[in-house]
Amino acid sequence: MCGIVGCFAETGCYERVLAALERLENRGYDSAGIALTADGRLSVRKKKGAVANLCGAPLAGRAGIGHTRWATHGKPSDENAHPHVAGKFALVHNGIVENHAALKAELLAAGETFASETDSEVIVKLIARAYKGDFFSAVAQACARLTGAYAVAVLCTDFPEEIVCAKNKSPLIAGAGCGAAYVCSDVPALCGAAAYVCPAEDGEFIHIRGGEICFRRADGSPAEKVFTRLTEAAGAVRPPRGSCMEAEIAQIPQGLARTLGWLRGCDFAPAARALRSAGRVFTVACGTAHHAAQAFGALLSREARIPVLCETASEFRYGDPLIGQGDVLVAVSQSGETADTLEAVRLAKARGAFVIAVTNVEQSTLARLADLPLRTVAGAEVAVAATKSYNCQLLALFYLAAQTVFYKRACFPSWFAALGAAADACAGALEGAADAETLAARLQTARALYFIGRGTDRFTAAEGALKVREIAYVFAESCPAGELKHGTLALVEEGFPVIAVATGRALLQKTANSLAEAKARGAFTVLFSQYADAAGGADVFCPLPALPEPLMPLVSVIPLQQFACRMCLLRGFDPDRPRNLAKSVTVE
Ligand code: GLU
Repeated sequence: MCGIVGCFAETGCYERVLAALERLENRGYDSAGIALTADGRLSVRKKKGAVANLCGAPLAGRAGIGHTRWATHGKPSDENAHPHVAGKFALVHNGIVENHAALKAELLAAGETFASETDSEVIVKLIARAYKGDFFSAVAQACARLTGAYAVAVLCTDFPEEIVCAKNKSPLIAGAGCGAAYVCSDVPALCGAAAYVCPAEDGEFIHIRGGEICFRRADGSPAEKVFTRLTEAAGAVRPPRGSCMEAEIAQIPQGLARTLGWLRGCDFAPAARALRSAGRVFTVACGTAHHAAQAFGALLSREARIPVLCETASEFRYGDPLIGQGDVLVAVSQSGETADTLEAVRLAKARGAFVIAVTNVEQSTLARLADLPLRTVAGAEVAVAATKSYNCQLLALFYLAAQTVFYKRACFPSWFAALGAAADACAGALEGAADAETLAARLQTARALYFIGRGTDRFTAAEGALKVREIAYVFAESCPAGELKHGTLALVEEGFPVIAVATGRALLQKTANSLAEAKARGAFTVLFSQYADAAGGADVFCPLPALPEPLMPLVSVIPLQQFACRMCLLRGFDPDRPRNLAKSVTVE
């Protein structure tokens, strides 16, 4: 969360920082700010709200830093917006300084005063107090006192062509190209601006001096690094009309086709062999990616007869998991920077497990940490609520499951070939938009919604409920259909919406029974299925295109994504910028 940028450029520094911030705006939109230094002074412009609020005459200088904030400490306000300033220094920070309370108490006792409520301001105060004329070592000394996650970029008026950056756990990437040197928290910030990128590892510093980018260790010694070509598809390109989320749902078929192309060129032997012979298999992920991981876990255990434990990353890492040598961890994250997922992976690696990662960003931390990184090629996902990345994660994970079956039994599962038809089936599902629209219009004033399903459909139901909560701000929950009568049915009263997904023939009647039980108590019932003969019992039936049943999660989620998006728009909200959220959850 939060986006940070630093740039040195002979000309147009302010505009370059501003443009990079615009590409990062989905990382946080509570406030934004920029600082440049020239002629022995700092110029700072910062404001509550969107990056667009920073427009105005460019600030002067050839070195600049910028920030889009997702507040962790202190409400969104002009004062709490970054950059924060102390003496000759300005700083932007991504992350949480966990010992900020103790540091602040120490600084207050020493006579410092604070202009903001943020944890970040203590860092710039520490730098200013440590400064004895050596910019780099002041930043290094201050950072040595921090605990928690941080990526910082710092300016100093004594060094008007320099930026010093440090990192621990939060991402930090250097970029070079087009007459400028950059640092940023996220590769999409540099799309179209830099030709080469190089991520910093924990404990490394990036020191920009004029056009030169140096990687250094805390003692100042140089660190050898290799830049790679920036291969990411263009960054945050907004569609000419409509929201990014609508555009990204429409891009699902293309994303699937590209991802399939990538998967077909990948050597699955190491991953499939590790899975085939694993002692234990775990998945870790958060939010939408966790639903994809759960669908994978169910498929792998059913088809390859390998038991899988699916855990949300934040629980896995603190649960002292039974993972070690010979075990496999499958980690899923769109951005590859999800803090909880990365920590779970670090834990698994430290205990000797083999890590397979599925991510949409090739140069991400997760891809670099994994023993075997698998790509989704969904393209840049700008909307905060994940859609096309989810479908692509499912595709990559199902492909991995099929490969594991092959390496176990020398025979692909019967549905494997149909992965090639997934993109077309999803294009067919997109044509059901009118059903989603009608349903959203019917339910736009609902105070709560319930989604149900059995088997893998329960993960699709969970994803549908999450989408509605995220962007339409309606209380929405999911439960396995069979669980309804064990408590949740008590919520059902006249008109209460219960939405079922039923794509497994063997469980169709069971889910229909659950819907009938809800309807008997007044529920308004909706059924999504590829089986038209199931239509009878529900108030509304929405047909789905058919794929072999194990692959149905790829298509059955699409009308739920469309429904949530229409609900959001009808209720007057912006689907691309849900309140309180941001893309790429880099804080715990
Ligand atoms: N902890 C800092 C703040 O609240 C930075 C948060 C972020 O990473 O966006 O301002």
